[in-house]
Amino acid sequence: MTELIANWNYPTNVSVGRGRISELPQACKRLGVSAPLLVTDPGLAALAMVSDASSACSQAGLQCAVFSAIQGNPTGENVEEGVRAFKRGGHDGVIAFGGGSALDAAKAIALMAGQDRPLWDFEDVGDNWTRVNEAGVAPIVAIPTTAGTGSEVGRASVITDTGMDGQSPVKKIIFHPKMLPQIVILDPDLTTGLPSHITAATGMDALSHSLEALCSPFYHPMAEGIAVEGIRLVKTYLARAVNDGNDIEARMQMLVASSMGATAFQKGLGGMHAIAHTLGALYGAHHGLLNAILMPYVLQANRLEIEERIVRLAQYLDLGDPSFEGFMAWVLAMRSDLSIPHTLADIDIDESQAEKVGEMSAVDPSAGGNPIQYSARQYSQLFINAVRGDLKGSL
Ligand SMILES: [Zn+2]
Repeated sequence: MTELIANWNYPTNVSVGRGRISELPQACKRLGVSAPLLVTDPGLAALAMVSDASSACSQAGLQCAVFSAIQGNPTGENVEEGVRAFKRGGHDGVIAFGGGSALDAAKAIALMAGQDRPLWDFEDVGDNWTRVNEAGVAPIVAIPTTAGTGSEVGRASVITDTGMDGQSPVKKIIFHPKMLPQIVILDPDLTTGLPSHITAATGMDALSHSLEALCSPFYHPMAEGIAVEGIRLVKTYLARAVNDGNDIEARMQMLVASSMGATAFQKGLGGMHAIAHTLGALYGAHHGLLNAILMPYVLQANRLEIEERIVRLAQYLDLGDPSFEGFMAWVLAMRSDLSIPHTLADIDIDESQAEKVGEMSAVDPSAGGNPIQYSARQYSQLFINAVRGDLKGSL
């Protein structure tokens, strides 16, 4: 077998391989960082991997501190508090360490370290990103500890705007090219402790990124090539990683599949993410789990526009029945093997806010990448189908 160790310069500098977390201090030094703020979540902050990383930096002469006041689905307030910690400690770089929430918060903290405007002025709308003072963006080293978000190779963060009195919280995408971490370390040893249900849900998020990118209608053949191989890696390795958390080869390949999914979705996402962002904001549910549940309903709804490329994908994946039906059967079987629920009702989401879900999903930025432009009413119906488990429901 080929040894799973490599250095890639696409889409950024990626150090791939077991044990490569040991290169963190050199990575900081390569970026000219002498006082990194390690941003992670409270769960990870209590684990040895974070204290080990932080003390390795200190032993190498770096002034490293840990900031971990980050919630799942991080908020604008979390970012503000992180920026205060960054300034108070005299930091000059960020180590983004953890799952999607920690990575997204860390990237936003690095962006905001030297800005005068509020965070929401950099929402990914029009050319808002040109308002950023680029000299004020701190350098970032990213170290994912889950295989799903792929945020380590992305130029954006999803941050929840908790809104003013009475308004619903809404997830906003903050974008700037300099939010792409300059160095990424993919070390499978950091993911072996992940519980199997989180491994499953995050792995399905990686699948949804590649799948939605592949199905989005924009012209980006490079992204499509990455997406299909990313999907093959999920097919080969996700169940292995879920069934044996210490399967290092599977853990390594899922980290790579995750980075590939996020690289591919420069081409666009779609209806799974439009609804998942909405439900994440309204119910605080797990992002990967939402995408996993929504996946077959959105595929079925989009069938007319995506059937040809799904058949091509099914052939590449070497499915026994390389048809649209065969692909759907594969998705449903894998989901069930991974103990992912079939309906949103199974995770206690009901139809009471269906209208609002439809309205928010239709204007979510990811909706622009769906192969069919659905109205708010159609998104509402698609959501209801997923609550009820109605795969054949029309929109
Ligand atoms: Zn996602």
